Amino acid sequence: MAGDAFEQLEASLLFCPKCRSAMPVRKRLLLILPQGNKFEYLCSRCASICGDKIEPDRPLAPRQYM
Ligand SMILES: [Zn+2]
Repeated sequence: MAGDAFEQLEASLLFCPKCRSAMPVRKRLLLILPQGNKFEYLCSRCASICGDKIEPDRPLAPRQYM
């Protein structure tokens, strides 16, 4: 299981429409989809949604269709 649960340290700066500048964001799990997990990025100052992203659940695992 080594390497499976590594932490992603993303020092993300995204443009916040409210702050009108690039702000550090917090990543929040929004939805679990069949193709991956959908995350929202919230501004760390005003908590506006600055963006979202779908991350594949297991990017290195082979897909099994049956
Ligand atoms: Zn903001």
